Amino acid sequence: MSITVEIDIEKVNKNIIYQGETLEVLRDIDLSIKKQEIVSIIGPSGCGKSTLLNLIAGLDNPDVGSIHFQGFNQEDRLGSVSYMQQKDLLFPWRTVLENISLSLEIKGISKKDSTEICRKYLSEFQLEKFEKNLPHTLSGGMRQRVAFLRTLLTDSEILLLDEPFGALDALTRRNLYVWFMNLLENNPRTVILVTHDVEEAIFLSDRIFLLSPRPGQIELIEEVSFERPRTYEIISDPNFVNLKSRLLHQLSEIRDE
Ligand code: ADP
Ligand code: MG
Repeated sequence: MSITVEIDIEKVNKNIIYQGETLEVLRDIDLSIKKQEIVSIIGPSGCGKSTLLNLIAGLDNPDVGSIHFQGFNQEDRLGSVSYMQQKDLLFPWRTVLENISLSLEIKGISKKDSTEICRKYLSEFQLEKFEKNLPHTLSGGMRQRVAFLRTLLTDSEILLLDEPFGALDALTRRNLYVWFMNLLENNPRTVILVTHDVEEAIFLSDRIFLLSPRPGQIELIEEVSFERPRTYEIISDPNFVNLKSRLLHQLSEIRDE
């Protein structure tokens, strides 16, 4: 069944009780995301980005406000997203190949076919030599790529990605941005990407939401209007440079307040 996905987040507040104290983590978060839109959420460390993704995913619920996906009850969000959490959460007892093929096995694809599909992706990610490895034998960057692949191989139309490229070196990241963008061109999905990296946010997104320090509030929304598919050359385009410096400036302003 094809679903018209649209995410509506209305007036969400979230508090966390930690060691007897109430922390206000998110305040008045109001945003809606269009079907097949790619948006980024950026903001200082600790401002509530991962908390917001947990709420959107349905792992937790807001104290105030609502999160609604078009075509789903609020309670059913968990089954309709593919969520790559900040911590990679690979199954330690399953090999690289078994971790990735899980999403395909759940869809009912035969072992033979799923192995073939996974091997193709593993080789594109330069991980083909590691298919029999267990996660603890891999570097952080490799584990992150495995977790990213596992997330992509699900059927969900909504992808929630929490700093998916954070453990990768600059060159690997750039290659992955381009690879991921092309994948989305051919197979569009709704993507919410949390990142620390302003360049990454601009390169990949249609819109960027900047959150203030905790309690996270939406401080700024920027449209990114570069045509797709984009090539990495746009990073030297004056519009790219301007937007980047505007966002970096805003981030340093709110940090200093
Ligand atoms: P970000 O992803 O933007 O770095 P988080 O959403 O992880 O921020 O956390 C937001 C705030 O909530 C932080 O100040 C963090 O210390 C606090 N926090 C989040 N989850 C918990 C938890 N389970 N227990 C205690 N504090 C938490
Ligand atoms: Mg986080």
